Amino acid sequence: KDEIDTKFKSNKERLLDGLLVSGFDKASCISRSQSHFYHKPSPHKPSPYLISKLRKYEEIHRKCGPNTRAYKKDMEIIANSKDNNGSSCALTTCKYIIWVPANGLGNQIISMASSFLYALLTNRVMLVKFEQDKEGLFCEPFLNSTWLLSKNSPFWNAENVESYQRFIDMELSNTLNEDLPLAMHVDLRYSPSNDERFFHCDHSQFLLTKIPLLFLEAGQYFVPSFFMTPVFQKELNQMFPEITSIFHHLVRYLFQPSNKAWKLITSFYQQHLAKANQIIGLQIRVLNTESTPHELFMDRILNCTLQNKLLPKLLDNTKNTSLSSNGRNPIIKAILVASLYPQYSESLNEMYMNKSTVTGEVIEVHQPSSEEEQIFDDYKHNLKAWVDMYLLSLSDELVTTYQSTFGYVAKGLGNSKPWILYNPANSNEVCEREFTLEPCYHYPPLRYCDSEDVIEDVSSTFPNIRHCKDYTFGLKLV
Ligand code: GDP
Repeated sequence: KDEIDTKFKSNKERLLDGLLVSGFDKASCISRSQSHFYHKPSPHKPSPYLISKLRKYEEIHRKCGPNTRAYKKDMEIIANSKDNNGSSCALTTCKYIIWVPANGLGNQIISMASSFLYALLTNRVMLVKFEQDKEGLFCEPFLNSTWLLSKNSPFWNAENVESYQRFIDMELSNTLNEDLPLAMHVDLRYSPSNDERFFHCDHSQFLLTKIPLLFLEAGQYFVPSFFMTPVFQKELNQMFPEITSIFHHLVRYLFQPSNKAWKLITSFYQQHLAKANQIIGLQIRVLNTESTPHELFMDRILNCTLQNKLLPKLLDNTKNTSLSSNGRNPIIKAILVASLYPQYSESLNEMYMNKSTVTGEVIEVHQPSSEEEQIFDDYKHNLKAWVDMYLLSLSDELVTTYQSTFGYVAKGLGNSKPWILYNPANSNEVCEREFTLEPCYHYPPLRYCDSEDVIEDVSSTFPNIRHCKDYTFGLKLV
């Protein structure tokens, strides 16, 4: 019986309390069967309703995903419908989203997670348009199917797709007629003009139900906007009785490192981190090295980590007798630095190397990569970013940088409530402990659905939404 119990427990942990499904070919995605050895078990359990939604989704994906008869037929209908407006969604067997990337990898991961939840809420099949830069970063998430849009698809280079905004404008001006296209491009990217898209409104969602294929181009975590959409409320409440772990579940469900990424993650971990008693992850994202010189940011990092006792102070030079040298095994703290720049780990290394600390702890500093600059659409660069995000998620304590989606992914994967470093250029506050696992939606809806009025006091209208502290314009779920 004990043996059965142990096996049951380890299966449960491996499958993240039912979030993941068994049946995948082990060798094709080793991280699926090993990641639970690296992450601590999560106290946040997926609800039975979420689990049943995921299993149903996987079934729909198998039935309507690429390489199925339904998919081929539907895509043909949609592709041939360009001059044939007025046909209706009823012509296709299934409905689809093609996710189109925007911004860096952290932005892309949080927006894919949001798009997937949108697919769950609207019974659509989600495909992703991955160029070479993302091929082979993640395992396939859906059993016996693929989520990759094929380069041979007529929608790989979809041009002249009708814009959602045009139809919303027509609807607002009462000029919308019944001639709706079968494909629409929904652009949820930040734009400086920041038009209201009304995507959070029932009337938009009603319009979109009539369109079989949506191109969703986004770089944000737009899940908070679903909590503004009345028609989604019932499903959301059933799926997520605990609102603050939505991203935690979505990101762990969708993103398993590919074998290549997993090899890099586990070999770095074994080589540098496994022997440490505690791992402190430092995610240092400097957007502008002119307004935020490295010395200034380094000061902030030290202030934050020393004051909050994440890292120990050094012993006074005059009494340089290491507590760790008294015969006992020293406690090792590993600092895992993720940054584009090497300067931070160099400074920390210099500070701690061969020095005694007041607690007797020995501090080691490791930085897996230092790319110097952000590169777009580059596979090797993205692989390093993904490895860094994942390694950060294995930390015991985490410090992240304000406004960085890179940090949001790490905390969501790792179930950590990190210390957030604030912007030295405009905040006197050094850092603060985060209170939710949810990412911030940086450019949220601006207006109410039924009037031109700007949403001002957001929490009085939407009780689960607050402004973010690390980016006050943004909104997050609480
Ligand atoms: P954000 O800009 O901080 O919100 O994060 P994104 O991930 O969206 O964009 C930043 C991009 O810059 C990453 O995807 C990487 O390409 C690169 N980058 C930024 N910080 C790091 C880092 O610490 N490590 C690595 N390897 N790449 C980084």
